[in-house]
Amino acid sequence: MFFVILAHQKFVMRKIQMVDLQTQYQFIKPKVDAGIQEVLSTAQFINGPAVKDFQAKLEAYLGLKHVIPCANGTDALQIAMMGLGLKPGDEVITADFTFAATVEVIALLGLTPVLVDVLPDTFNIDPDAIEKAITPKTKAIVPVHLFGQAADMNRIMDIATAHNLYVIEDNAQGIGSTFTDKQGNRVKTGGIGHVGSTSFFPSKNLGCYGDGGAIFTNDDDLAHALRGVVNHGMYKRYHHDVVGVNSRLDSLQAVVLNEKLKLLDFYNERRKWAAIRYTQLLHGHAKIETPVTSGDCDSHVYHQYTLKIVGADRDALVQHLQQNDIPCGVYYPIPLHLQKAYADSRYLEKDFVVTNQLVDQVISLPMHSELDEEQIQFICTTIRSFLD
Ligand SMILES: *Cc1c(COP(=O)(O)O)cnc(C)c1O
Repeated sequence: MFFVILAHQKFVMRKIQMVDLQTQYQFIKPKVDAGIQEVLSTAQFINGPAVKDFQAKLEAYLGLKHVIPCANGTDALQIAMMGLGLKPGDEVITADFTFAATVEVIALLGLTPVLVDVLPDTFNIDPDAIEKAITPKTKAIVPVHLFGQAADMNRIMDIATAHNLYVIEDNAQGIGSTFTDKQGNRVKTGGIGHVGSTSFFPSKNLGCYGDGGAIFTNDDDLAHALRGVVNHGMYKRYHHDVVGVNSRLDSLQAVVLNEKLKLLDFYNERRKWAAIRYTQLLHGHAKIETPVTSGDCDSHVYHQYTLKIVGADRDALVQHLQQNDIPCGVYYPIPLHLQKAYADSRYLEKDFVVTNQLVDQVISLPMHSELDEEQIQFICTTIRSFLD
């Protein structure tokens, strides 16, 4: 059905979008609409059957014991840190090159963020930089599986074990991605560390039609702690044992997620196909570095397809694409250690050489499950003709 509908629209190229949620909705409309109608007529808006169903299905999909749904991906990170009992003064190491949510919740909880540099090829947190940043106050590491590719979890878990640290995986961009562990098992990201988090923001690989998120763990005690934190610190009705928050996934969002979870692998395959086509058409150009996949390429789910532009003006390319009605994004234009909110006199520029360079080089191209060959060819031709 997918290809038939796209073929019908062949005469005029469909407008290129960074993400195309309207077209995606058309394919699941009958089921989503019926599910939403059901929630409206039963009025089970909070903690309804759709939420419990989604929780169980996501546990099965990820091969994890516990999924705790919550209101968004930022909450998920915060709740993970609260559930682990991190306390003000504890240091938490995370990447300098990521979305601000990660460092924001560390700071909000009164913990001390410690930003470290990333690797130039995968854009993921540099394990050597983590090791260098560890002090007696360090309590946790937050690797972000940036753009959909797993961070080096074997190294990170070794470092964490050696120094008795928690690992919180920010899997907001990596859902469905896999990683091969030391025993040779392929495991899904989000379930490798002590706890993982994700976001169901609409443009994520598994997105709902509003805000949503989830926390993952295989640890029964931690799961119990987390279930209390998301619900006002209540383990027994009106008994508040710990300070908690109110963070819920609502039933309407769960309906959408139930439909889209069935298609997540298909969506990720479509993203991989688009990534492969982009790379085939752009690789080998002297001014373009196409994304590097470390280990098995299957592990990357391309939340973003991000090029490095070298020896050319990245910002001029952005403008050129926009003039040709090709949306693109710069994720991320400013290193976190240089943001006003997170600057700290402890940080030395020599420790952020890679991030400082990436912010000037990266450009993310349209990436979603509805991209077609004609659109990808047009995008690549436009990029090449500008850089030639
Ligand atoms: C999107 C995102 C978040 C936050 O998710 P929200 O649901 O928007 O709160 C956190 N971390 C990363 C890496 C993200 O990409």
